[in-house]
Amino acid sequence: MNKKDLSQELKEKALKEGFAVVGIASIPGSSRIKLRTKALERWLENNYHSEMKWMESNKRKRIELMLNDAKSVITVGYNYLNENSQNKFLKIAKFGHGEDYHKVIKQKLSNIGNWLEKKLPNCKWKICIDSSPLLEKAWAEESGIGWIGKHSNVINRNHGSWLSLGFIIVNKELTPDEPAKSLCGKCEKCIEECPTKAITEPFVVNSNLCIAYHTIENRNTTFPSHIKQKLNGWVAGCDICQDVCPWNNYAPINKDTEAKTQEWIKDLDANSISWTDEEWTEKLKESTLKRIKPWMWRRNIKAVIKT
Ligand code: SF4
Ligand code: SF4
Repeated sequence: MNKKDLSQELKEKALKEGFAVVGIASIPGSSRIKLRTKALERWLENNYHSEMKWMESNKRKRIELMLNDAKSVITVGYNYLNENSQNKFLKIAKFGHGEDYHKVIKQKLSNIGNWLEKKLPNCKWKICIDSSPLLEKAWAEESGIGWIGKHSNVINRNHGSWLSLGFIIVNKELTPDEPAKSLCGKCEKCIEECPTKAITEPFVVNSNLCIAYHTIENRNTTFPSHIKQKLNGWVAGCDICQDVCPWNNYAPINKDTEAKTQEWIKDLDANSISWTDEEWTEKLKESTLKRIKPWMWRRNIKAVIKT
């Protein structure tokens, strides 16, 4: 089968697996990858990554270090928007409502990798999902699935930004898609509506000011006062800059079981502060949010209740 037909079949396979979007980029990619790498370096120099030291990995700047003889990268977007995206007193970012997206995406990407191996003898592939050191959003843009919005999330023109990204790097040439172009235009809603002014300039989020960073990654026992005052119910992540984005107005809903809001989220309230470590661990076992340890949940809930 020729390269073009195989690339097309591969994309059909990805959609059948349940991904909302899929695109392909060639390695080393266009000059925009170099620009995005420079932007990452500036972000790190400013210490906007705060305590996320893993962002400094040099591998993030060189995709070819991820797989021997890497030639192409396939990007997929998994739609995590479900029908009950809540508006409760204790708010949880939408990406955390369903099953652990790492597990869901990995399973689907493994199916694609095994399929590719049958089609392409000697095909080597490597799955990357957000814990891997990859310049993810830049490669998503390069693969044409969407552009990096001014809030720094990837936006697809039909699906909006409620997408978790996954990647397969392969050692075979495939037919690349056109890189996506920005459609933010003159809009600056995300910048205007961020309660902590964490988007310091278009495309640049200072994690030290971001509620999502503090509720998920901050390992200190208390929050800085400028964050605590602005939590407004957010105990895990923050969706404000995406909620206000016009490209999310008509984002389609994923009705698959794995995207449904987990039961424990429906039970979450001020009394959850007294859940034991064992109860938290049990409730979070199938959740992306197990990254937030029980003591952090208590800290976050306490901070929201006391503001
Ligand atoms: S996630 Fe919330 S705090 Fe962070 S940049 Fe977006 S709106 Fe601001
Ligand atoms: S709110 Fe406006 S500026 Fe921000 S990402 Fe969406 S379209 Fe772009």
